[in-house]
Formats: sequence, structure tokens, C-alpha cells
Amino acid sequence: MKDKRSPSELEALWKEDDMADGKKVRAMVVIMRTSGCCWVKHGGCTMCGYREASLRSVSEEDLLRQLDQALASYKGEPFVKIYTSGSFLDDNEVPPAVRQRFYEAFSGCSRLLFESRPEFITEESVKAVPKNVTVALGLESSSPEVLERAVHKGFTPDDIRRAGLLLKRSGLMVRTYLLLKTPFMTESMAIRDAVASARFADEFSDEISVNPLNVQRGTYVERLWKRGEFRPPWIWSLIDVFRQLHGTVGARLMSSPSGGGSQRGVHNCGECDRKALDAVERFSFTQDPADLSVSCSCEARWRAYMESESILGTPADLDRGFENELTLRVV
Ligand code: SF4
Ligand SMILES: [Zn+2]
Repeated sequence: MKDKRSPSELEALWKEDDMADGKKVRAMVVIMRTSGCCWVKHGGCTMCGYREASLRSVSEEDLLRQLDQALASYKGEPFVKIYTSGSFLDDNEVPPAVRQRFYEAFSGCSRLLFESRPEFITEESVKAVPKNVTVALGLESSSPEVLERAVHKGFTPDDIRRAGLLLKRSGLMVRTYLLLKTPFMTESMAIRDAVASARFADEFSDEISVNPLNVQRGTYVERLWKRGEFRPPWIWSLIDVFRQLHGTVGARLMSSPSGGGSQRGVHNCGECDRKALDAVERFSFTQDPADLSVSCSCEARWRAYMESESILGTPADLDRGFENELTLRVV
């Protein structure tokens, strides 16, 4: 089917709250249309649906028109986040001259954030990056095996560490993304993996964003999910990760889950999802574990779920098919 989206228009733009200079501020979020992530040609990551947002050919001029569009909506927000469905520092995706125009356009804001794979973060490329920039790095997991087999990331945790340390030495900020619950993991493995990964990332991160896996269309994870072989994590697991990490890492802990409360995203019983997600959001700003206090009877079901997974030795979605047995165990 022919793609009718114009390469000179932004995919999306909205405003939201985030942190800059230690306080809550408004941020402008810009989702660009680019030729997409270079890694997609190698199959891409198992959970990434970004190929859907990419177009085959996007010229320099198209990208500059997207910048004009972003500037037309810019109201002086102190924080601007530019997402390209790939790497902002990849010359094939965003040519250096275009990057320069973005740097100039947002030189007045205290934070400008973009994402990059580590192979584009070199002594050379970092020299041109202005000091108000935060680079977001998708570490996902500090386990080389998880990155290779479950995520198919195409780099190692040490590649991210090298890039992170280089960015810090260059006076830039780093936001590291972790994936909560990659394929083939039980809920308790996912919690352990996220906690260990955050401790690994703390050395080079100003912020650690824990992203519960959200099942995106057209991905390998979606196939597993449709077959009942994957359940997105519980919100209780995300809360547990923050409780374990609080006070043990220097980086600000945060999460703003996509698809939270839906069957494809991080979810609990349905009744408490909103208040549990609100608690996570509050904690992301305050870092106060008291803000994570939520109660719902499904917390006991979550514990029973983890116990059943260990007994059965499977990461399959036990909510489907075994629901009655789980309920019986809790009662
Ligand atoms: S590196 Fe990032 S953008 Fe590229 S396929 Fe993986 S998750 Fe998607
Ligand atoms: Zn509940």
C-alpha cells in the first residue's frame, strides 16, 4: 500500500511535563519522520515498531521543513525532546547540516534531548554537540546475553558504557533507557534484570528511564504475545524495581510507560491501573518512595503469578487460561 504520509511533515508533536535544572517544567516533544533506524536493515530489535514511523526517502529539505513546523509550535519551553525513530547522530538519518540547524534553533533552551545508538557517539561526533544536550541511550539490559538473544540489539552493554562515559566526559547529560521484561523472561527475572541494569547504568547516567515493554504492531514480540507466550509486565513489578533501587543509585529514576493500563502495555488488574501509574509518575518527579504507595487486592495475585511462573518454569502469559487457578491460590 502506498504511504500517503508527507516526508516534510512531523509525525507528531505534543507538550508534557519533565524535569530540567532540578525542577518540573513543560517540555515540547517532537516526533520526526526520517528514513529510520539503521539497525532495522539488520532485522531491528524484537520489540521495536519504529519501522512503521519511518519513510523510505526523506531529504534534507524535508527535515528542515519539519524543523520549521516544530518551531511554529514552540512557545519557549525549557526542555525540547526530538525523537527520530532511530539515531539523531546518524549522518544518514539526520545530516550534520540539519543537526546544526536544530542545535541553533534550540540553543536557548536548558535541555535538548535526542536518542542515539552508541556506534554514532565518537570523540569526533560529540565535539559538535552543544552543552545543553542530553543523549538518550537505549541500553535495555546490562546482560550481554539478554541484549543479543532476547532484544537482538546489535551492540553490547559495554558499547553503551563506553558511549555514556564519553558523553559524561564531554560535559553532556545522559538518560539511559532500560526495558522492563524482554521476551522469554518471567516477571521475577525481569525485576532482577532491571535492578541489575540500573546499577550498571548509574555510573554514566543522570537519569534512568525504566520502560516496561509495550507490545507494538508488526514486531516479533507481538507474535509471541498473540500466541500467549508473553505478558507485558505488571505495574507492581515496575513499582518493585523503583523500591529496590531507591537510595542505591545516584541517577534520577523515572518511567512514563507507553500503553500503560492496556493489554499491550504494563498493567495490573484494570481497577487499580490508573492510580498505580499516577504513583509511578509522581515518584518520577519527587523520587520519594512514599509516592509509590498504592493498594489493591491484585497485589496478592501478582505475587501468586510470580510464584506460579517459577513453579511452572515458564514466561508464558498465565493470565490467559490459568486465571482461575491463580485466583484459587490467592484465596
Ligand atoms: S536501535 Fe532503537 S530504533 Fe533501532 S530497531 Fe532497536 S529499538 Fe528500534
Ligand atoms: Zn489492582
